Amino acid sequence: MNTCTVLIVAAGRGSRFGSELPKQYCPLRGDTVIGLTLKAFIGHPDINAIRVVIHPDDLELYKKTIDQISSFGFALGDTAILEPVFGGASRQESVSIGLESLSETAPDLVLIHDAARPFVSARVIDRVLNALQYQSAVIPALAVNDTLKRRHERTVSETVDRSQLVRAQTPQGFRFSEIQRAHRHAQELSPGAEMTDDAAIAEYAGLMVNIVDGSEDNVKITSQQDLQMAERALATKDFMTSKDYETRTGAGFDVHRFENGDSVTLCGVSIPHIASLAGHSDADVGLHALTDALLGAIGEGDIGFYFPPNDPKWRGVASGVFVKKAYDLIAEQGGRIVNVDITLICEHPKIGPHCAIMKETIANLLQIPPTRISVKATTTEQLGFTGRNEGIAAQAIASVEIPKD
Ligand code: MG
Repeated sequence: MNTCTVLIVAAGRGSRFGSELPKQYCPLRGDTVIGLTLKAFIGHPDINAIRVVIHPDDLELYKKTIDQISSFGFALGDTAILEPVFGGASRQESVSIGLESLSETAPDLVLIHDAARPFVSARVIDRVLNALQYQSAVIPALAVNDTLKRRHERTVSETVDRSQLVRAQTPQGFRFSEIQRAHRHAQELSPGAEMTDDAAIAEYAGLMVNIVDGSEDNVKITSQQDLQMAERALATKDFMTSKDYETRTGAGFDVHRFENGDSVTLCGVSIPHIASLAGHSDADVGLHALTDALLGAIGEGDIGFYFPPNDPKWRGVASGVFVKKAYDLIAEQGGRIVNVDITLICEHPKIGPHCAIMKETIANLLQIPPTRISVKATTTEQLGFTGRNEGIAAQAIASVEIPKD
């Protein structure tokens, strides 16, 4: 079995991009460009390690990206994320530095990928890896559909035959020792020359470069417009699976009465109080309303259907179990949770000081960032049963994306 390391090139400053934040770190649909790029490779069964070549100024941004990936329980599988290395002045130099940094471990294969191509699919990665079993150098590429013209200033001088032209993408795959040799060779013979991809360096060293099918979704984000287009496209389509999604919404409501006790559990957090909540499980109204909202969004009944209140099995159990059930049912349908919003209705205890930890708790249960979770509270101005401190009510709403039938 070949060992394979992915080298992700993220050291560019993106002068064409025109934003304060380097384009690799720009937000993209609750993630970042580079976060999505990393996730495309993490956990792939044939990839052992990932090394990212970064700009020294971006160290903090990079660390934040990695923290985010690990803190939300993203399945790392057997993929190791190696310490980043600092790139050079050009893309070519950055790749050279990245390759040299792998000298010691010397994987059999290396995939070199642009951080700005976050939509690379497992299928494209597989095609490159499969071809690499028999070849030394493989690139994904696509035919040119537009008619190509050579120009002289503002007039056309010639129509170019496009039948033999392709558009090269990444990841470009190589036998590690051969691409390292090719980079050293290019460095020696034409120092300072800037080749725009690694296949060009392989060609320059006389390596045969093979072509597999790329993908139209595997776009490179070079401008703000690309980023906006990607954002729009992602709203309805999952690039990893090429599925179309639609958004569903569900609502949940729950009430529990107070009984003697000294604490209440709300949204997974135990809060000292002059009373406790009576009922099913730990009587966490917040998580019960949330469970019903999630189940409602996918039309899968309600909490009482899965966890009958008269079943002694659920007595005292932490209500995270119920949320997890709803989460699993959504995952089974290939769905994903977009956001949830919970309102706790009571006079006491005060909820505000606990909101942040409640959001963290729910983020862990739902495997989404706390920015997609809202927990808030209201009183009923001392009116009604919540106003008379007889119990606590909660309502919740959830948005879920589900693959279209
Ligand atoms: Mg309940």
